[in-house]
Amino acid sequence: MPRVRRSRLISPPASSDAVRAVMRANKKRDTGPELVVRRMLHELGYRYRLHARDVPGNPDIVFRRRRKAIFVHGCFWHQHQDQSCPLRSHPRSNLTYWGPKFQRNVERDQANARLINDLGWRALLVWECELIDNNRLRAKLIKFLESP
Ligand SMILES: [Zn+2]
Repeated sequence: MPRVRRSRLISPPASSDAVRAVMRANKKRDTGPELVVRRMLHELGYRYRLHARDVPGNPDIVFRRRRKAIFVHGCFWHQHQDQSCPLRSHPRSNLTYWGPKFQRNVERDQANARLINDLGWRALLVWECELIDNNRLRAKLIKFLESP
């Protein structure tokens, strides 16, 4: 079986200019989407901490006083299940390799969500594909942070 380059596996079909723009912005897959969210929060005037190791799941962005955390998830790695996700992509080969990896990611996400709720924290999940619509994402962030 020929070796498949990882980059081929993680690249969803670019279906529109917006998607291509997001993909370009997210070249550094782990940091790109998170940086976009951080910049947006900063512009909105929110101050946050990064990567709280004492909070379950080591959230990307943390608001200690509000006891709120934001996770930014890549649609591929965390297997975004929303049918309308334009970045949704499933590996077409090597399923024996990717299948268990994804399963572990998804299970870990669910376990962390439970733990964080048990601590009395609230968590917001921002999917990579939500970065396409800035206005909508901005509204979502504000609603999350301003709700009791
Ligand atoms: Zn998505």
